[in-house]
This record gives sequence, structure tokens and C-alpha cells, in this order.
Amino acid sequence: MRILVTNDDGIYSPGIAALARVATKFGEVYVVAPDVEQSSMGHAVTHSRPLTIKKSTNSFGEQVPAHRVNGTPADCVALGTHLHADIDVVLSGINMGPNLGNSMWHSGTLAAAKQAALFGLKGIALSTPVGNSDPDFDALEPFVERAIAAALEDQDSNLININFPPAPRDLIWTRQSVRQYDGHVVPGVDPMGRKHYWFTVTPLEPAEEGTDRWAVENGLVSLTPLRLDLTDESALTRMQQTHL
Ligand code: MN
Repeated sequence: MRILVTNDDGIYSPGIAALARVATKFGEVYVVAPDVEQSSMGHAVTHSRPLTIKKSTNSFGEQVPAHRVNGTPADCVALGTHLHADIDVVLSGINMGPNLGNSMWHSGTLAAAKQAALFGLKGIALSTPVGNSDPDFDALEPFVERAIAAALEDQDSNLININFPPAPRDLIWTRQSVRQYDGHVVPGVDPMGRKHYWFTVTPLEPAEEGTDRWAVENGLVSLTPLRLDLTDESALTRMQQTHL
């Protein structure tokens, strides 16, 4: 199997090093990742300037070609699959920060996996929360391996979002939590006296059982199969019957 590894935290993140290490157990690994952090860029693609791709100065081992791109996570999947033919699966992460529930809409990590699915490949996004110190990727490694194996097993699902609690006890298949969140804009003042703003979000309600947020809150690795089709099926049926 030929595996493209990318992320949105940038090629120097310890999360992508951990993911590339585990990925080598599943096949040939190629790293193509943003040269700087691109978190919360969502599925942005660069179309108003050309992109460059350069050999990475950060080594992932002698057997792993690694390149950095001055673009978004989705750009990296486009250029990575152009540079390396016949990629089977794109692994994106391991993101430093969870991508649960509504944050899937903002996530650059998930967008890279989505871009793979749009190309007809398999895309798997992997994320874990960060506390005061970096995640213990060595401790997570056996669970990362189990989760990737589980995600690869189902041939028909092509987009899977995986989140790891800090100390997992098991794995579980989940659905996306879609409860509301509180979007706060927190104003501040910079050292030059200018006003600036931080956009922060907090989920408003406790997570529903069986969802991704609930799983991670309960020490379980959450695996959520997703689809590209955003159509609201019940609304479509309703509209077709009543509004035309
Ligand atoms: Mn990130």
C-alpha cells in the first residue's frame, strides 16, 4: 500500500512524525505537509498564486521521502498525489487538538482527508487533545496502529475521522456530535495599544451517548465514518412533496 502522510500543524509537528512512524507498518510512506501551521484553514485551496514543493529538512527516516509545501492541507494532498503516483490512502495528523463534532467544519486536518476522498482515494484524519504538555505519542502508538487497521478494513468507507483521548482504554465507532456551540469573540489589546480579537468556541451541552465527543470524554478512541454528500435527505423529500 502507498500512503501519503500530511497534516495541518506543519511538517515540524511531533504529531506528523508519530503518524509517519506508525504508517510505515502499513506500507510505503510519503510525507507532503505544509511548511507552516495551517490549523483551522478548513478545505481552503490556493488558486491565486503558484505553489512550491521543496525537500524537507526534517527527516522522517531514510526510507520516507518528505516534502514541504507553501500551501494548505488540501493543497498538500493535491501536490502529494501529483508527485507520488498511485497513492492508496491519505493519513492526516496526528493533529495537536481534537477534531470532534462541529469542529469538523473548520478542521484542516479533516480537509486533507476529505480532499483524498474527493480524488477517489481513502482519507483518514487523526487528532488528539493537547494539555499543558505535548501528547504522549509513544503511549498512543499502539492505539494509532489499531485505529488505522480498523479504518482500512472497511473497503467501502472512504472518509474516517479518528480522535484519541490522552489515555485510551478501547476503540469505538461513533457518529458526529452536532450540538450547538458558543462562539465567543474575546477582545484584547496588543503591546502597541491596538485592539485585537480571539474567536473561541465552547460546546453548550453535554455530548450525546454514542457520539465522537462522548467517546473521547469517556476514554475511548472515536472512529466516525463520514460522507461527502451533505444533502439533508428528509428535508429534500419534504421539499419535493410540498414546495414545488
Ligand atoms: Mn492543527
